[in-house]
Amino acid sequence: MELESKLAILADAAKYDASCASSGAVRGNSLGGKGVGSTGGAGICHSYAPDGRCISLLKVLLTNLCIYDCHYCINRRSSNVRRAAFTAEEVVKLTLDFYKRNYIEGLFLSSGIIRNADHTMEMVIAVARTLRETYDFRGYIHLKTIPEASPELIEIAARYADRISINLELPTQKSLDILAPEKNINRTRHAMGRIRIKLDEAHERRKNGDKKLRHATGQSTQVIVGADASTDADFLARSDDLYGNFKMRRVYYSAFSPIPEPSSVLPLKAPPLVREHRLYQADWLMRFYGFKTSEILTPETPNLDLDLDPKLAWALRNRQDFPVDVQTASRENLLRVPGLGVRNVDRILHIRRFGKIRLADLIRLRISLKKVQPFLITVDHNPSALLLDSDRLRARFLPKPQQLDLFAPHEIR
Ligand code: SF4
Repeated sequence: MELESKLAILADAAKYDASCASSGAVRGNSLGGKGVGSTGGAGICHSYAPDGRCISLLKVLLTNLCIYDCHYCINRRSSNVRRAAFTAEEVVKLTLDFYKRNYIEGLFLSSGIIRNADHTMEMVIAVARTLRETYDFRGYIHLKTIPEASPELIEIAARYADRISINLELPTQKSLDILAPEKNINRTRHAMGRIRIKLDEAHERRKNGDKKLRHATGQSTQVIVGADASTDADFLARSDDLYGNFKMRRVYYSAFSPIPEPSSVLPLKAPPLVREHRLYQADWLMRFYGFKTSEILTPETPNLDLDLDPKLAWALRNRQDFPVDVQTASRENLLRVPGLGVRNVDRILHIRRFGKIRLADLIRLRISLKKVQPFLITVDHNPSALLLDSDRLRARFLPKPQQLDLFAPHEIR
């Protein structure tokens, strides 16, 4: 098969993986005529990392052949798709060719499992090793690893990569048993734990002066949302576990997208995209705003409100904690005010040392008054207790009903 045909199949097969952002990676470069590649190249703008940095990666699978049969995956054993496989040399050639043509800053390489986990890992490593050792490639490399592979191989992969990841895919073993019966959550957690130890060791070595050490700086994972009955509470509890125990750099929430010739256990429709968005917002609250999962969701409400962002939804459920005084409230309490982000809270803490804060100051900080006013006291504003207690407050924040298109036919139920 022609290289271009393989690329078409294997790049398309890789598009379902969302966990390929490069935020936080140490930047290599080839300044001074040494080596090939740079993670900070100019003029390449194909995608955005969560930190806002523009990156472009060659994102491919080594092969879409797989001995596993995960129901949600287009590459599963029982799927009737066209199969292809690169050799390690072909991926190296593509990466270098694309890099030299300024199409990419790096490589995101994943693979179906061929023969067994170790064999697949060895092939993935062969690509990264050749790029780094033979061509002195200093661009970004993200390698997807396989939890069943031997720890030694995963460790070697981490030495050539900037980021490594293992996809958890589903938050509980119960869900895996139904949709990915060959996968085991404890095995994956153990592999993540071992990676964490190696990442910490590399961090220590760098801190102690080993500036030349090449080693991945972080790990990430992906979960699929909406492929089964897992609730948002299941996802957030798992994320809490992963951030807390393995210092996961990111958990990516990827809305399930229906695949051709789907298995009968899958839903027919994708979940609303806003669900994925709300999970990212809740995840953000846990990581940067001091919220616990149990505050965002409860056993009675295990799913996020799709109409309101989770911080606003929390504030509406906890009205007794508001309003807070912008002049005296602690950083923790200000962070809980809907409409106040981390940066603005820090600015408020700075400027309030020099005088009383007015609504005009909030406008200057580009804070949405509509959102903060019911929850915040300033020297010239004290929100109405009646509004804070009333049912109208929730209605005030609900999205506007969509205007029906007069000229399009609508189904009437
Ligand atoms: S192991 Fe990976 S590639 Fe294979 S079927 Fe499962 S999700 Fe797909």
